[in-house]
Amino acid sequence: MRIGIDLGGTKIEGIVLADEGKVTEKLRVDTPAESYSETVKAVCDVIKNLQTTNQFSVGIGTPGALSLPRELMKNSNSVCLNGQPLKKDIESSLGYEIRIENDANCFALSEAHYGIASSSKTVFGVILGTGCGGGVVVDKKLLTGPNSIAGEWGHNSIPTSVRELIKEDRECYCGRPNCNETVLSGRGLQQTYAELTGNESSPIEIVGSAQSGDMDAKNCIDIYAKQLARCLSTIINIIDPHMIVLGGGLSNISALYELVPHHLEGHVFSDVIQTKIAPPTFGDASGALGAACLWDAS
Ligand SMILES: [Zn+2]
Repeated sequence: MRIGIDLGGTKIEGIVLADEGKVTEKLRVDTPAESYSETVKAVCDVIKNLQTTNQFSVGIGTPGALSLPRELMKNSNSVCLNGQPLKKDIESSLGYEIRIENDANCFALSEAHYGIASSSKTVFGVILGTGCGGGVVVDKKLLTGPNSIAGEWGHNSIPTSVRELIKEDRECYCGRPNCNETVLSGRGLQQTYAELTGNESSPIEIVGSAQSGDMDAKNCIDIYAKQLARCLSTIINIIDPHMIVLGGGLSNISALYELVPHHLEGHVFSDVIQTKIAPPTFGDASGALGAACLWDAS
């Protein structure tokens, strides 16, 4: 049996995953606000509550990543975690080894093991939401590297062909201009809509208006699909995944699954594009499920 924990900014969700992929237990508690030591304690309490025998492995998914070789957290939007030895502190409290990966990697793992990409050899999982992240799974194993950033395309610069689709340069919170995240996150979609119409509207309102036939909103979604396709074409040219699974709030835009494959044409260095663009099987559950998949079934 495996325990998977999704450590989010507001909730800590824990599951027990049986070897055949069935979730047998679930537990959800609030994340203590802005306190690192209380967060560590809350995570360990969830694990201890789910752990009924000694035969468990524990994986944790969280925004951000472990900075090697010191294993201190970095890039987390739950800022109290940054600079902290989260893995070591949880391990000292529990008394055994655990694994930690960022939430986009856990999302990709969950889809590659038990979701829509379970028959695909190479999978790129994309998070399109508050931020823009990604993870690469090959033969059901996460691709990892010395910088713990494999798949992190959100802070690559947009291609020139995407710069042509926005009016002015966009500052990213990371300090660089025109990162993929500045067009592909929810805020990016909002900004594109504002550039087109002069009006402020939330991503949910834009999608709703597009579905009701509003031409400006439909146009905005089509531009977003072009931006996404052109950003994804750079990924396809490098890792040539069998499937790209979209996750995060913006993956609910159903039009993307028709528009993006169409807009990839002419931007991927191949005459035929066989990469499938698919919606996720799991919603909010993917983080804890993927975290459990950081360990092989016993
Ligand atoms: Zn950035």
